[in-house]
Formats: sequence, C-alpha cells, structure tokens
Amino acid sequence: MSSKEKSSQVSGFYKLSIEKRIEFVQQFASLSKEEAQVFSSSLDVETADRMIENALGTFELPLGIAVNFIINGKEYLIPMATEESSVVAAASNAAKFARIHGGFATECSDPLMIGQMQLLRVNDVATAAQTIMNHKKQLLQLANAQDKILVTLGGGAKDIEVRILDSPLGKMIVAHLIVDVRDAMGANAVNTMCEALAPMLEELTGGKIRLKILSNLADRRIVKAKAVFDNKKMGGDQVVDAFLESYTLASIDPYRAATHNKGIMNGIDSLIIATGNDFRAIEAGAHAYAARNGHYTSLTNYHKDKEGNLVGEIELPMAVGIVGGASSIHPKAKLCQKILGLTTAKELGEIAASLGLAQNFAAVFALSTVGIQKGHMSLHAKNIAIMAGATGELIDKIADNMVEEGNVKLDRAKELISSFK
Ligand code: NAD
Repeated sequence: MSSKEKSSQVSGFYKLSIEKRIEFVQQFASLSKEEAQVFSSSLDVETADRMIENALGTFELPLGIAVNFIINGKEYLIPMATEESSVVAAASNAAKFARIHGGFATECSDPLMIGQMQLLRVNDVATAAQTIMNHKKQLLQLANAQDKILVTLGGGAKDIEVRILDSPLGKMIVAHLIVDVRDAMGANAVNTMCEALAPMLEELTGGKIRLKILSNLADRRIVKAKAVFDNKKMGGDQVVDAFLESYTLASIDPYRAATHNKGIMNGIDSLIIATGNDFRAIEAGAHAYAARNGHYTSLTNYHKDKEGNLVGEIELPMAVGIVGGASSIHPKAKLCQKILGLTTAKELGEIAASLGLAQNFAAVFALSTVGIQKGHMSLHAKNIAIMAGATGELIDKIADNMVEEGNVKLDRAKELISSFK
C-alpha cells in the first residue's frame, strides 16, 4: 500500500479473521513480519520484573484497532487496549460520520508541564515571593543543568511562577516550575528539577520545602479537537436536536457530566494504555480540568452549524510521551506507536483528543437514538455465556439466543447450556 492510497476506511473490518485484520494493519503501517508477530506475543516476565516491584507475571487486555479516522488530513488506524465491549466499534463508527466533512482538526499548545514546590514557615511571604522571582534566571539555570538532553532538544525549564496560598497552616508559597518536556510525558524530568531547586529555594526564602512534585493538572499542555458530524448520516434535524438535548444535561449537571466524561475516557485511556502511557495522569488531568471553572462539567461541547450538521469540540490536558516510561520499553506500546506513525508526543495527544471526541459522539448519539444497550448487548451476551460456563461454538450459540430473546442474564445462559447439552 503506497502512502498515497493508504486509507483507514474499511467496511466490515469486524467480519475479518484476526489474521486478516493483522495483515491489513501490517500493510497499512508497513510492519515487518517480526513486528506483526508482536500482536500475538506477551510481555516477557523479565521485562515486567524490571518495570514494577514484586512482579509475578503479566496481565493481558484485548488490543483492537479503530478504523476510519482522518485527523488533520492524515489517515489513522488507532490501537486501543480495553476490556470494555463496544468501545472500539463505537469509535470506528463515529469516525465514519466525521469523515464526510474531512475528519478531525486539532490544535495543541507547547508541551509545558508544571512542577510544584511547596514552601512553608516563611516569615514574610510577599518578600520571599519577590526574592524567588528576582532569582528566576539562576533557578532556571540550575533546573536545566539536571536535563541537558531536554535542553538540547529545545525543551527544559522555561519559567517560574509564584503563588501565595492561604491554608489551615497559615500562608504558604507554592512555586511553579514550567518545563517544556518535548516528547516525554515529563514527570521524572520535572520531579528531578524540582528536587534540585529545593535547597536553593529554602536558602532564598528561609522557609522549609515540603512537596516537590509534578502537577497532573497539566493546563499548559492543552489539546483541542473539532469535527463536523453529518446531519443526514445522523438521521436529520430531529436526531441532531435530540443529541443536543442529551448533551445539555452533561453541560449543567455533574452527575451526567461524570458519565459523559467517562465515555470520553473510554477512548482516550484505551489509546493511552496501548501506547504505554500513564492513564492515571491523563484521567487526573482531564477531570481536574473539567472542574476548572469551579463546577464539574463536560469536556466536550456541541452546537449545530448553518447546514444543520453537528459540530463537536473537545479540550483537555494531554500529558503523553513517545519517549520515557513504558512507552519506550513495552514492545506492544512501541508497535502501537509505529501503527500510528508517530513522530511527536504532540501528534499522540492530538489523536487522543480526536478519539475522545469520537467516543463521546458515539455514546451520546446512541443514547439519543436507540439507547446504549443495543450496541453493548452482543459482546456482553458472549461474556455472560462464558461466565455461565459455555465454551467453543456454544458461546456464540447461547449469546445469539439470549440477544434474540432480549433476555441476556446469567441464569438464562445456564438454562440454555443445560438445554443444549
Ligand atoms: P523519562 O524520565 O523516562 O524520560 C524523559 C527523559 O528522556 C527526558 O528527561 C530526556 O532527558 C530524555 N529524552 C530523550 N529524548 C527526548 C525527547 N525527544 N523528548 C523529551 N525527552 C527526551 O520519563 P518522563 O516522561 O520524565 O516520566 C514519565 C514517567 O513518570 C511515567 O512512567 C509516569 O508514570 C511516571 N510518573 C508520573 C508521575 C505523575 O504523573 N504524577 C509521578 C512520578 C512518575
């Protein structure tokens, strides 16, 4: 497949055998035979033992591929590691709707992370804050001396900001170190710098440093994605209006917004895991950002354009890396990065935001029309059949039977197993 004719659009991908799907991805991403074999291998225990403490083995998740994505004019197959049924299918379906109007368009800020240094027991916080600012140059020099590689790549510590906070312990200073982490997630890089600055900050202020750690509210590292979902394909004005009514609840009510944003993270986390990134960091950043205006709300917003199409937008922090952490160690994470053809962490963040928007569109669209259970049922029924003890061909037979009856329950699956024996 030449890059010119490379398309992520496939119909009936789910109907292909696993071998055929791998063949398609192999061609799309120009994977070698050895690389394609990584799909069916597990992380070796020696690597696992180097990654965490007290390792016993590894824990597997299904890895799927979302199809149909165009982001900033480029075709993408998106790897997703998730245990939840319907997520990959929903994302692929949403991408089809967005494709009609050119797919997803994104914007991204510089990869700036924030490190926090908490200073206690400072006698005169205003003077101390000023002293810190007066020594910004020396502090930044010391921070940058910790990571020459980052500085060579055009990143490194760029700025220091000082906040004075009231607390039950009295006034405290929190100095923020702003670091351009380039293609890394950045936690280790930022933490090392903050720890190195601690003695100098104590000396400058006469205070006591307590915490020195990255903030996961990465609100200087923001990605925005936008897509137009076609009115006709959605089913016309009534469906678009029903969608907007459903979305409105997420925009005003935290009970709905939490579920709405969980749906967004179904997509984002799956990609974050597949590329060896820290999904807790992304989750923490996303939810904190959703509450940035004092009330928790939706990470997406929607409106209708002049043609009646639905315009969707998402905005959230995206602390992801393509170097460092597990992203450089895990063989499947490296393979997934190759499938995406990533050259920068920024690109990964843009794909993640687009996927989150697609996932959210798919969920709200289903909720506004047929309901969420229809899509969930077929794979869910298979899981119930397996739980009830079905094996081999019996799994599909029992699952189909339960879906047809509209009765997907464990006791019914057990009854059917006995009746088929
Ligand atoms: P890292 O330290 O493994 O790698 C980053 C380093 O790689 C940089 O400091 C730089 O020296 C070097 N590098 C080489 N090429 C680079 C490039 N093109 N761009 C940027 N840097 C390049 O990883 P990290 O990203 O600093 O830390 C990520 C890890 O920290 C994750 O595993 C995460 O789980 C963990 N962590 C997270 C938190 C948190 O989120 N609060 C806290 C502690 C640790």
